[in-house]
Amino acid sequence: MKTPQVFDRIRARWDRAGLAEASYRPLRIEFELTTKCNDACPSCGMGALSLQAGRSLTDQQLDYLLAEFSDVGLPSVAITGGEPFVAMRALLRFMTLARGTGVEVNKLTTNGIWGSKQRCGPTFDQLINAGLLDNTLFVPLLMLSIGEQTTPLEHVARIIHHTVTEFTDHDLNLAISSLADPSDREHKIYDLMRLYEAAYGDFPHDRIHSTMRVYLENDRLEDQAEINRPGRTSVAKWMDRCYDCFAPTVGSYVLPTALLKADGTLYACAAFNVPEKLGFGNLFREPLRDILARANRSAYVSAVRAGGGLKALHEVIPRAETEHMTCGSFCGSCSLLIDKFEQRTGQTLPAGSALPFVDTSSLWSRLPAAQGSRRG
Ligand code: SF4
Ligand code: SF4
Repeated sequence: MKTPQVFDRIRARWDRAGLAEASYRPLRIEFELTTKCNDACPSCGMGALSLQAGRSLTDQQLDYLLAEFSDVGLPSVAITGGEPFVAMRALLRFMTLARGTGVEVNKLTTNGIWGSKQRCGPTFDQLINAGLLDNTLFVPLLMLSIGEQTTPLEHVARIIHHTVTEFTDHDLNLAISSLADPSDREHKIYDLMRLYEAAYGDFPHDRIHSTMRVYLENDRLEDQAEINRPGRTSVAKWMDRCYDCFAPTVGSYVLPTALLKADGTLYACAAFNVPEKLGFGNLFREPLRDILARANRSAYVSAVRAGGGLKALHEVIPRAETEHMTCGSFCGSCSLLIDKFEQRTGQTLPAGSALPFVDTSSLWSRLPAAQGSRRG
């Protein structure tokens, strides 16, 4: 945090936006700036496409999003992709426009493609000129993903070295998301540490938040206990992990978050594999305020929010049942539990895809430029 008053300031912002009573108000929306990616990781959780097939949000869409974010007093956004740095113009444009509006960019996710000798320093300069270090609520985070990515680890090491030598942890935080290959359990982050130490000296453990997880086909681990194998773990066990999966390494999630896909669908959770049923509407078809209102009417979201995660649903769906249901991931359990919740309570979630289509031209008139003034 940049200031101890951070939550007072956020609450005051929500009050001014008329959301004082809402129980679900995102602290941060993670949005896909582009679906383009220079890489093609086999287990990509982002639905990324090639540079030719993907698309980036247009200037008009980004202007509209910023106006909508401001309208609900959103304090911060995380920018993801695809790979946001292949849409550099759009990235810098959004950051520059967001500066001073109260909507802070507090996380950038990247595969480090820009960490070459020629591009690293100039890219940092561009980010700073666009306001990267100007946040007043949260210290921004650069999240470097080194799972199946093919970016040379030299690039990633250079970005880390630049960050720790040029900025303090009051300016910029760093995180690394790393995977282990299940065949040997060797984590890629150890390769990165070896390479970093050979080039620059001690690895800056005190500056790096690391999420080290085995995503890939754990079934290949011969000595793994049956109960821990994906697909054989009980839903009851996964339920106790929701919201806390990063707790041992980066601390509890700052919640609530939301995910905005490049097609405009807004989900009430920012997990990669968030179930479709947590999509509450399309921001390119209706105002964010209306979508949040719909999410706030969801009994499922209210129950999960109030209880601090899926564990709250033990009250509704008895353990006798969830202990005998199995699935491969905790967000997979979310999907199963929504169905169970609907059966038991008779309350259904509105599917984003089933929402009525609204002509978007009516929404563009909400843009600040069209109104002749900027929303605060
Ligand atoms: S770099 Fe990231 S967005 Fe691109 S393919 Fe890999 S996981 Fe997907
Ligand atoms: S289980 Fe559901 S609420 Fe929990 S992180 Fe996954 S999608 Fe979000």
